[in-house]
Amino acid sequence: MIIVLKNNQTESKINEFKEYLEKKYNVGIHVSVGRDSVVLGLIGDTSAVDEDSIRAQEIVQEVKRVQEPYKKANRKFHPDDTVITLENGLKIGDGSVTLIAGPCSVESEEQVTEVAEAVKKSGAVILRGGAFKPRTSPYAFQGMGADGLKLLRLARKRTGLPIISEVMSVSQLELFEDVDIIQVGARNMQNFDLLKALGKQRRPVLLKRGLANTIEELLMSAEYIMSNGNENVILCERGIRTFETKTRNTLDISAVPILKKLSHLPVFIDPSHAAGIPWLVEPLSMAAVAAGADGLIIEVHNNPAKALCDGSQSLTPDMFDSVVNNVKKIAAAVDRKVSVFKAAVDI
Ligand code: PEP
Ligand code: MN
Repeated sequence: MIIVLKNNQTESKINEFKEYLEKKYNVGIHVSVGRDSVVLGLIGDTSAVDEDSIRAQEIVQEVKRVQEPYKKANRKFHPDDTVITLENGLKIGDGSVTLIAGPCSVESEEQVTEVAEAVKKSGAVILRGGAFKPRTSPYAFQGMGADGLKLLRLARKRTGLPIISEVMSVSQLELFEDVDIIQVGARNMQNFDLLKALGKQRRPVLLKRGLANTIEELLMSAEYIMSNGNENVILCERGIRTFETKTRNTLDISAVPILKKLSHLPVFIDPSHAAGIPWLVEPLSMAAVAAGADGLIIEVHNNPAKALCDGSQSLTPDMFDSVVNNVKKIAAAVDRKVSVFKAAVDI
């Protein structure tokens, strides 16, 4: 971090500020005295240095960060890719493409098991299904709650597929103890209490990018989880809000190579919530894999017209089958494998 001081500061004022910074942030200071101005270079870990508070000091003209404010998620300090291993041995982030699929929300035993069996047959290796749903309208279906998680576990038992489901609040977390991956939805990306609590438990977390959040904010949210003790985080781009109205959101495909460059964490794409339209899910999935995504999370329903949530963007099992076939072609073209099912340990 570089701090430019205002002109004509006395030596004692500069020294006083220097000592304040050294003490408060435990950093070294390099002072360079120019003809007109004095510049302080902070040496050491500056991730805890509050830029705004420095800017507010009387003596300060300008502050500039030269190092990213995230440490744990930063590839600079962890050059190798993070590989997350689930209980059944499935590896995420090892270079292969991991396919997650399932309904937006769990609706009934028949629905979730039928979809689970269909997506498994096509090549999905993890089953998704929301039990707690963050809906825009309080009058819309809010999910089956704990019963939904029970049905998801049942589908896991029947198919052997590990499961992923969204947690919306700290108080729900105890229900997720045996859920293989815990999802943080776009609307909760900056629920910092939830992120801290997820850092204190051991399950991997799939963290979705907020509707209007920057890549750096996503990484800072990952940092919350990681700095609290859980380094198994998967980043997920799911489309952001732009002026475009032809899609539900705009898929920021550039987030994939950027996140892979900045961070060692696995990066997934959710083409369903980005597109909002079923036919668009296939080309977006292919683009994601071509761009280097570690996996996809896709909504599939056995009867989209009757779905209680997000039916208008859900694929039928046949459509999902076609997506998988095309994704396999792209994966082969970029020299990557698509993960295959691993028999689960008895749960
Ligand atoms: C979902 O996965 O069903 C969901 C609500 O996603 P998002 O948080 O990306 O909107
Ligand atoms: Mn959904």
